[in-house]
Amino acid sequence: MKSRNCHFFLFVCLTSFFWTTHGQSQLDSIPSFLLLGKAEVPKQANYSLLPEVAKAFDRMANAAQKEGVQLRVVSSFRSYKDQRRIWNRKYKRFVAQGLSPDEAIKKIITYSTLPGTSRHHWGTDLDLVDAKPLVKGDVLLDSLFTQGPYRKLNEWLTTNSEKFGFYLVYTKDTLRPGFYYEPWHFSYRKLSLPFLEAYQKFHLLDSIAKDSLLLGHQHITPMFKSNYLQQHILGINPCLLPE
Ligand SMILES: [Zn+2]
Repeated sequence: MKSRNCHFFLFVCLTSFFWTTHGQSQLDSIPSFLLLGKAEVPKQANYSLLPEVAKAFDRMANAAQKEGVQLRVVSSFRSYKDQRRIWNRKYKRFVAQGLSPDEAIKKIITYSTLPGTSRHHWGTDLDLVDAKPLVKGDVLLDSLFTQGPYRKLNEWLTTNSEKFGFYLVYTKDTLRPGFYYEPWHFSYRKLSLPFLEAYQKFHLLDSIAKDSLLLGHQHITPMFKSNYLQQHILGINPCLLPE
């Protein structure tokens, strides 16, 4: 086991003791590599989440099942490298279509996050659908949740998810900046709240622009970072924002 992973597993063991209440010293104990998607998050049956989050999710899934909703995780932990692969593929395609680097980046970030900034890096966030209605093609469309086959799931999660610690991240609020409404994306607040606070405190966005394997990295300017932080990282459900 690599030493970075040893540290990570030690960190996982300690989280449940540390974060009943959190202060500055606890924030300092959160490793940057975890926040940047460079940790190994343990894989369970169908998803990868931090152990505490997985337990809370199992409790929620059991409760949902009793009421006829079969939660299926479509996306959980995603690594920095995976996100960079998605980013680079889109960047190449948009530039080949004739967009300038700045235009390509602007287009990518309407739907995809800059690597190192995805909440899916943390092992606290997941995308959910209902396993029962058979839906072909892209399952993450808001129309499926508001009127279509996932309406019952959407109603169940709206009423119940917070009781299990999971909060909708990209709400329907039209005044909210950043990513569009995502009725499928939930976050385990007890851990993701201090993670976001640490992310800001450590100024982790600065390290991303230095990644020479990230296409367009020269265009991640201080102005871009400042706007991205305000709109895409902090443009979320206020319940998930540090005070
Ligand atoms: Zn998501």
